[in-house]
Parts: sequence; C-alpha cells; structure tokens
Amino acid sequence: MPSRAHPHFNWMHRSLSFLLLAAVSAAPVAAQTSLRGSPKSVDRMHRQALNHDVTFHRTPASVNKAHKAGTLVRLSGNRDFQMVHVNYPYVLPSTRTFVQRLAEQYRAQCGQQMVVTSGLRPGSFRLMNAHEKSVHPTGMAVDLRKPRQAKCLNWLRKGLLSLEGEGAIEATEERNPPHFHVAVYPRQYARYVAGHRGGGEVLAQRDSGENGDSGKGDSAKASSSAKSKSSGTAKGATRYRVRKGDNLSTIAKRHGTTVRRIRQANGLKSARLQPGQTLEIPTKR
Ligand SMILES: [Zn+2]
Repeated sequence: MPSRAHPHFNWMHRSLSFLLLAAVSAAPVAAQTSLRGSPKSVDRMHRQALNHDVTFHRTPASVNKAHKAGTLVRLSGNRDFQMVHVNYPYVLPSTRTFVQRLAEQYRAQCGQQMVVTSGLRPGSFRLMNAHEKSVHPTGMAVDLRKPRQAKCLNWLRKGLLSLEGEGAIEATEERNPPHFHVAVYPRQYARYVAGHRGGGEVLAQRDSGENGDSGKGDSAKASSSAKSKSSGTAKGATRYRVRKGDNLSTIAKRHGTTVRRIRQANGLKSARLQPGQTLEIPTKR
C-alpha cells in the first residue's frame, strides 16, 4: 500500500472535518441560551444569588422585615398581569421591574394578561419538588404560567431567551405545573434596562416612570454609563454584548434578524466574535 493517502479520501476527510466544525460553531451554545432546566442552571442561579449577597428568607417574619426595610417590594397585579395563588407577593425591586415591563409588552403582543404564579417562597415552605438551591427564598425569582395560545407562548419563550442571552435573567421551562421559572439578576438586569431605554428590539424596555423605586442606585449608575455608550447607536438598533460561546447565527436568531444585517451594521469582515465585544443589532424594520 502506498503511504500517501488517496487524494479523494483526503479531500473528503478535509471537507468532512470542515462540516463538523461548522456544525459545532453554529449549534446553539451554552445552557444559558436554552430554557431547559438542569442542575447546572440551578447552580448558576444559586451562585448569582450568592454573588449578589441577597438574603435567603426562611420565615414570613423575615420577609415582612425586609419589606418594611424596602429591600423587598410588593408585587401586585395591574392591567398587564395578574397574580394567581401567590402567597408571598414579594420580590426584589429588579424582579418587579422585570415583571412589569415584560407584562406590558406581553399584553401588547398577545392581548391578554400575563400570569404570575409564584413570587418569594420562604425557605421553610419549600415545595416538595423544589431544589435545595432554589432562589425563590431571595425574591429574585418569579414563576410565570405558560400561556395556552401558541402565539403568546412563542412570544414569551423568545422574550425570555433574548433576555437570557443578554445575561440579565436565567429562565427554565418547567412541567409540573407548566410554568417558566425566571431568576432576575439585579445588577445585570439594571444594566440591561439602562442600555435599552428607547431601543427598538423585541424586549426594548420603555421607561414608564412608575418604577422609580426599583433598582435604585445600580440602575442610575448603569444608566449614565449606558447613555454615553449608546450615543452612537443608530435609531431602531440595539446593542448587544457578545458572551462566551455566542456566534452570529444564534445572536441573529435571538434578535429576529440575519447574520448579514448584523455584519453590515457592524462592518464585520469576519464572523469571528470576541466575548465582551459590543454589536449593534439592527431591528426587523
Ligand atoms: Zn420557580
């Protein structure tokens, strides 16, 4: 046998490995951009809670105290969402802002109210199936009922995935009962909101002015820095910070745009992205 590989085989081999590589880099990456629940995602949420140094409330008395001190706020339904069977309607201010803003857009898109089925759950009232590391006792998380209508369900999925892609939340789709579990990361979410005032993407957050007390210091600080940062953004475009494992195709999909448009908007000659790099994402229109 000649030691040299057959040229045809060689070619096949090379194009095969190219195809494999392409498939790997185009695959939806990290669990951060999936709604599948996993021990890893539970760990991530728990770690975020520890990083934020939030209190895990064990008793109703502890919840009351935090509410009086203003570290927890009451979540009450409005025309955009209702609370169903929520025993402890308290959450962190950033989580309330998240619910209010998401619900406003949800109702605008679906024509129905969003339904919140759980807010804070004191640690001592842990549900049978809840994980030891649940972040519900912190007020960081809410549960949202899964809508029956496909249109609303898809909108909610897309919205949660998009916010998860921004690193502002972690959401998982749960079965018993069917709901979305969403952990809202206070610092990251405040930054996200600050960076998207007046932006035009799927979950562009309008500053409604009624949430003055939410996310206080963080939000104000992040807002001034984000303003200078986004001054160069074209109208109707939004900024996205590239995270580890991202690629143009997943980013485009998440924002309902195309790889080509993102490359054009940013003058990208190559498809290679660096984590931390900021991209301008053109909107659909
Ligand atoms: Zn939950």
